[in-house]
Amino acid sequence: MHERLAQLRCLPGRKRRYHGTRARYGQMKPEQHEKYSRQILFSGIGEAGQEKLLQASAALVGCGALGTVAANLLVRSGVGRLRIIDRDFVEVSNLQRQTLFDEADTREALPKAAAAERRLRAINSDVRVEGVVADVTPKNVIDLLSGFTVILDGTDNFQTRLLLNDAAVSLHVPWIYAAAVGSYGVTMTVRPTETACLACLLEGEEKSAFMGAEATCDTAGIVNSAAGVVASIEAAEAMKLLAGRPEALHRRLISCDVWSGKFQSVRVARNPNCRACARHEFVFLGGEAQPHITLCGRDSVQIHERSRRLDLGELGRHLASATHEVRSNDFLLRFRVSPYEITVFADGRAIVKGTTDPAIARSLYARYIGA
Ligand SMILES: [Zn+2]
Repeated sequence: MHERLAQLRCLPGRKRRYHGTRARYGQMKPEQHEKYSRQILFSGIGEAGQEKLLQASAALVGCGALGTVAANLLVRSGVGRLRIIDRDFVEVSNLQRQTLFDEADTREALPKAAAAERRLRAINSDVRVEGVVADVTPKNVIDLLSGFTVILDGTDNFQTRLLLNDAAVSLHVPWIYAAAVGSYGVTMTVRPTETACLACLLEGEEKSAFMGAEATCDTAGIVNSAAGVVASIEAAEAMKLLAGRPEALHRRLISCDVWSGKFQSVRVARNPNCRACARHEFVFLGGEAQPHITLCGRDSVQIHERSRRLDLGELGRHLASATHEVRSNDFLLRFRVSPYEITVFADGRAIVKGTTDPAIARSLYARYIGA
């Protein structure tokens, strides 16, 4: 590949022409040759890489600032199948950086997974896009992530990332860590047994330097382009894996600050005694799901007090009789108990807006939704 690139640099007048025929390009349909022609022309992917990409699958956990950018790029690139798992709904404060969503999604109070699925199917009907409205927990993570070529991180907290790390290492599937806060972003690709994993990075001596990206997004805010840069690097790494070009992976921990213009990359060594990738002690897989979690960047608490599904229609009728400004769609039901706004999902989860106190959220949940 390097030789070919060098050749092209030496011969700037030379153009590689693309002639798409089914006979020449294997399984691709003629319209797919046209759709992906610029990617096929790129020597790092080529026809063979595009064929692989069309057959491959990716799972994305979290569809916020990072996830929307990465999902958009992967679907446009022609990945065969993309599963998007997200627990949240679209709000107006998301639109500044979550590039798949628009004002109609906020008016409809659509879950992010459903809104993303609708938008991405309109962008590229070749791709099997599957939105899953769920919170990834130790109980469901293996089911949700089994059978994919690569897993992408679009989450906003290290508890979930370490859960993803344990799941990916135990499934022996590569995954791509990414995080952004303020004007700063960071990403690293994990290939189990070949590279360091997130536990090597976070649970070793270098731990403190990288945990900082978590707690501050409430207060620090985020520049949309910081998420865009990091998610774009993440999507490029995914494409290398999906197109069967693992030798092109950057193999670094890359960080960048779009405000100061500082970009850094460092090698991260495997920890030979790593709890996860060396000793296979997947403690996060065995962990208990948190009954309540304060959501990032919002005055809200997520609560999950019951494991059975809710009948949203019945709950809506019950709440409407007491006039709580009930609104609902196919995925969720929302009502107001001033000063709180409570959004309930069919899986029994609720997001209580207007507090960061789990005790208040739990008591509201018990009173209006039931134990
Ligand atoms: Zn490790």
